[in-house]
Amino acid sequence: MLLFRDVKVFDGERTLPPTHVTVAEGLIAAVGEAEAPGAVVVEGRGATLMPGLIDAHAHAFPGDLEQAAAFGVTTVLDMMADPVQAAGLRVAATAAPALADLRTAGTAATIPGGYGWYLVEMGLLPPFPTLTAPEQADAFVAERLAEGSDYLKILLDDGSTVGAPTPAMPDETLHALVAAAHDRDRLTVAHALTAESARLAVAAGVDVLGHLFVDEPAPELAHELAARGTVVIPTLAALGELFGRPQGRRLAADPRVAPYLGEGARHMLTMGPVPLGEGARHDFDVAPRTLAELRDAGVTVLAGSDASNIGTAHGATLHHELRRLVAAGLTPREALTAATAAPARCFGLADRGRIAPGLRADLVLVDGDPTADIDHTLDILGVWRGGQRIARERRLGDEGPLTG
Ligand SMILES: [Zn+2]
Repeated sequence: MLLFRDVKVFDGERTLPPTHVTVAEGLIAAVGEAEAPGAVVVEGRGATLMPGLIDAHAHAFPGDLEQAAAFGVTTVLDMMADPVQAAGLRVAATAAPALADLRTAGTAATIPGGYGWYLVEMGLLPPFPTLTAPEQADAFVAERLAEGSDYLKILLDDGSTVGAPTPAMPDETLHALVAAAHDRDRLTVAHALTAESARLAVAAGVDVLGHLFVDEPAPELAHELAARGTVVIPTLAALGELFGRPQGRRLAADPRVAPYLGEGARHMLTMGPVPLGEGARHDFDVAPRTLAELRDAGVTVLAGSDASNIGTAHGATLHHELRRLVAAGLTPREALTAATAAPARCFGLADRGRIAPGLRADLVLVDGDPTADIDHTLDILGVWRGGQRIARERRLGDEGPLTG
């Protein structure tokens, strides 16, 4: 049994004045109960207890889940992976509290030679099935679920933002994929970087946009997203690396980050900006305004790092994403909800994301009050997954290949 004593609590949505939180058998037993005979006591004065963070957009390779957990990210939502590797990681994470828990999209939906295939050409993913006709969507989705995909990732990209022209998925195929996933009560997440592809995704009924669109302002889209309940994972940190506003080096130099990065992770985090092709069409400076429009319209925003891309590191970059979200106009509390209660609700993870009796004791204790100053999320005093404390001392695994 575990007792956090006199600790300020961010419960996933609200901040509670200093109170007590007890943990038993891996679950939060009570909030406000000071009596816990025989419990290991963690003094919480001056600190804030938060739910374990959920990274709503990442790509996990061996070693990544340990590093995520060391930074307080206790759940990782993978958004495109080799299903065999993802299944292995998931089993490993179930057995070991030192690894973040994993959910996965597995193989993403794209067309032959379409967006995402470059990962195969680069040797980062084994060849995977693609769709040549909308009639294949139903079987494609059924196969993904049989492989262990928790939700469907759909790649919509013509390569225009990065100057690498790529055939785009026909609209009929997109619609058929969304219908096939919804028939099976599964969420759909679209990779879309342009306002036009975001429009197509929203019109097709896609549930989640995996990135913010960054080619042009589209104020009318905010109301459309809000009306349909479409959720957005901006991934500002990763897009900043891609579109000329890299901050990975600064993050890697943070003394609260550096000791917990393996060599490979440090290398990946500091190798931005990403070289782009000729005619790349994007305007990252429009992102804060777009995000403010989404927020004002009431669109649900989730925090996602898009690690393992260039300029990102599992765990660390989610903290940086929270800062980017606040810099773009979210309150620190809203940003923290975007990494806790909101992704749990969106992805149906009913057992986590908040501090409440009966939920998993996935917890992060930080010095100071991150709801007042988001920078405090990196002042980590301790991480618990399923009630077990994670050892943060050691330097961690160094895998970290590039993904989409
Ligand atoms: Zn991604």
